[in-house]
Amino acid sequence: MISYFPTCCLWCESTHDILDDWQICRRCHEDVFVNSFINSVNKIPFYAESFSSRYLFNGSLREMIIKWKYNPSPEYTRPLGMAALTSWGMESINFDYIIPVPPHIERLKERKIHQTLLLAKWIGNWFGVPIFYDIYRTKRTPSQTALTRSERVENLLNSFAVEKSRMLNHKSILLMDDIMTTGATLRNLISVVRRANPRAIHVRTIAYNQIRKSL
Ligand SMILES: [Zn+2]
Repeated sequence: MISYFPTCCLWCESTHDILDDWQICRRCHEDVFVNSFINSVNKIPFYAESFSSRYLFNGSLREMIIKWKYNPSPEYTRPLGMAALTSWGMESINFDYIIPVPPHIERLKERKIHQTLLLAKWIGNWFGVPIFYDIYRTKRTPSQTALTRSERVENLLNSFAVEKSRMLNHKSILLMDDIMTTGATLRNLISVVRRANPRAIHVRTIAYNQIRKSL
């Protein structure tokens, strides 16, 4: 099929061999996505009805996600959205709401655009599923990077709250983020959302950030 659109790869600007759905070229798709694809994550660090995170947060995918975080533009959301659609196994799952993990400072309910919300909207439009906005952080968490895993977990305890929780009663929720590291943030958010008595919580992240074990 000949494309008459003046299209080029978002990542390398080549005009050759563009994958229309992804808006990147075949070579970049290989480099960014195929190379970091993993078959499974060994240990699921929380209780959820289902979980998937199929890419390693490294190499060119890491570069793309970091670039997108600092400049959350719809154009970069497209290849990442396609990565989500093709790796999350959502075909057989019915869900009623999407909850993107609220960012550290702004409340999700203030609807300021941040990258996870942008991705959630993209996925939501695809499936025709609304975003649940009434969730927010109850305290500002200090930088996590200098903390040990257990300190992170403690630091995040009780850091989310849900309003209008009756809306979630008996509903199936897609809880999503771009990257998972220890899973502490997701675990904490899951425990808060569980109190609203949903029917199911399906957790998805695009990339999995492997932590080096200190010996
Ligand atoms: Zn390219």
